[in-house]
Amino acid sequence: MGTANYILQIEALSKSYDKKIFALKDFSYKLESGKICAVVGESGSGKSTLLKLIAGLERSDHGQINMGDQILCNDQIHLSPQKRSVGLVFQDFALFPHLRVKENIAFGLAPGSHSKIEQMLKAVRLEGYEDRFPSELSGGQEQRVAIARSLVREPDLLLLDEPFSNRDTILKSELRHEIKRLIKDLGLSMIFITHDIYDAMDIADEIIFLKEGKIVRQSPIADIFEAVKDKYVQENMEELKRSAETILSMIPK
Ligand code: ADP
Ligand code: MG
Repeated sequence: MGTANYILQIEALSKSYDKKIFALKDFSYKLESGKICAVVGESGSGKSTLLKLIAGLERSDHGQINMGDQILCNDQIHLSPQKRSVGLVFQDFALFPHLRVKENIAFGLAPGSHSKIEQMLKAVRLEGYEDRFPSELSGGQEQRVAIARSLVREPDLLLLDEPFSNRDTILKSELRHEIKRLIKDLGLSMIFITHDIYDAMDIADEIIFLKEGKIVRQSPIADIFEAVKDKYVQENMEELKRSAETILSMIPK
C-alpha cells in the first residue's frame, strides 16, 4: 500500500465553551484526499463544533488541524476562515433572502466572476434559476444554491451540517447522489453531519460516531454493509435507522 494522502489531519483537538464541559475532547482524525466522511452522533456530541473548528469559526483550546502542509490552527496559530480552503454549509443554508440566486452565489466574490458562477449553476443543475429569489425555490434547490455559493470559492474540503434533514425521502436520496457526484467530479473531499444512517451508508466512504466530543467508532462504509448483510439482511431495514449505534457496535474497533 502506498502512503495515504490526507487532506485533513486533526491531532488531539479540544474545545470547551465554558471551560468546564468539553464539546470536543482530545479529538484526532485523518481524512484521506477525495473521500467523503459522515459524522453521526446524538445532539450535543460535538458535531457542529468539529466543523466550526475546521472552518475556523471557533477557536480550539488545544490541538492542531492541518490541511495538507498548511497548519490551520494550533496553540499559537489561528488561520482566519477566509485563508482556509474550506467551505461550510449550514443546516439552514443561510441564503440572503433579498438577493437573487446568482447574487447569493457571487456574494463577496471579485467582480468579473460571471463565467465561474455560470459554470457552478450548471454543476448544481440550477441553470435558468439565476434570477429567482430564495423564496421562489424548493428546499432542495435552496440547498444547492448554498452548496454552489461554497463551491464557487474553490475549497478543497466541503463541510455540510445536517444537509439532508427536513426533506422528504425521495428528494433526500436525489440530493445525496447529486452532491456525491459533484464532490467526486470536482475531486474534493467532504465531511457531512447526519442523524440518519441511510445518508451515511448511501454516499459516505467512511463514518465516524461521536459521543461526548470523542470518536467512539470509526469505520469504512463497506464494513457496515458487510455487518448488515451478515446479521440484518432478513430483518426490517427500519432497524438500521433506529439503531445506528447497534450496527456500529457490531464492527470490531
Ligand atoms: P452537536 O452539533 O453534535 O449537536 P455541538 O457541537 O453543537 O453538538 O455542541 C456540543 C456541546 O457544546 C454541547 O454541550 C453544546 O451545548 C455546547 N455548545 C455548542 N455551541 C456552544 C456555544 N456557542 N456556547 C456554549 N456552548 C456551546
Ligand atoms: Mg449540530
